[in-house]
Amino acid sequence: MRALITGITGQDGSYLAEQLAADGWSVFGLIRGQHNPKRAWVQSLVPSLVLIEGDLLDQSSIQRALVAAEPDVVFNLGALTFVGMSWDQPTLMTEVTGLGALRVLEAIRAVSPRIRFVQASSSEQFGAARETPQCETTPFWPRSPYGVAKLFAHHVTVNYRESYGIHASAAIMFNHESPRRGEEFVTRKITTAVARIAAGAQESLVLGNLAAKRDWGWAPDYMRCLPLIAGQDEPDDFVLATGEAHSVAELCEFAFGIAGLDWRDHVVSDTSLFRPADVPELLGDARKARAVLGWEPTLRFDDIVREMVRAA
Ligand code: NAP
Repeated sequence: MRALITGITGQDGSYLAEQLAADGWSVFGLIRGQHNPKRAWVQSLVPSLVLIEGDLLDQSSIQRALVAAEPDVVFNLGALTFVGMSWDQPTLMTEVTGLGALRVLEAIRAVSPRIRFVQASSSEQFGAARETPQCETTPFWPRSPYGVAKLFAHHVTVNYRESYGIHASAAIMFNHESPRRGEEFVTRKITTAVARIAAGAQESLVLGNLAAKRDWGWAPDYMRCLPLIAGQDEPDDFVLATGEAHSVAELCEFAFGIAGLDWRDHVVSDTSLFRPADVPELLGDARKARAVLGWEPTLRFDDIVREMVRAA
């Protein structure tokens, strides 16, 4: 089997490439930029990985990548992923994260409609969620330009499945973390700060809304599921989640506790960092993925935080 992964230099792309290569797949990755600083890093993780230059903003480069890689499956993980920046650069966010998926699907239609497609959809599409927990039938109500762009990409995935018969599926993934998570994300901010504060290199940590609750999973678990989705006889959408939600404050308490610190001595909540429209709680119901794909997350909140503090 041959895979083309967009977002190859990201947290998820790197784990998925490792897993697929270990399972005997030929893995190709779409990499952007003339001198992408993560090129050597991802190549060292997966020596057999073939990198193809291209950009989700550039239709012809995606098309050329499909011709070169001849993939059985495209995993579309490439996106701008930070919700916070999506208010500052909403047009770019929409171009990359929303229209990027459309460009990949158009390229598949042009090159070979038999290529399967898996879109990395997001729990942020549920936003001001209409019900708790959220499953595949929960209505979407995104609350950020990121969520709106993701929702466009999700709907266009479903639409190309229904319109053109493309085997296009979506994994609607709740937050998933690892030591490879970008440093701007709250789990990395907290776990890195714990290590630095414990070492005397930092005194305090300024965060936004401490009451926000999220369903945090382990990134390699979620990547293990994507080939299962691609391998289904029929394309479909699946929520991937742990079914446990914890607040940012709980995350702080647990992470600082690992280092024997009291989080209240170090963490400050700054209202200027609150988002223009917040999402108070996201909690996923992954019963469909469990029943149809036999997928189960292996690591839970405590294990994930411990692992990230240890690696920081
Ligand atoms: P990430 O670490 O931020 O990686 C994003 C990737 O997208 C990077 O490889 C980045 O490449 C690439 N990219 C950005 N702009 C691009 C462009 N114009 N053309 C081509 N590639 C571009 O994100 P992640 O956590 O691995 O997430 C992977 C996917 O899952 C994303 O689509 C995200 O929205 C979705 N998702 C993630 C979560 C989560 O909790 N992690 C939850 C739900 C859904 P550069 O190295 O060039 O910047």
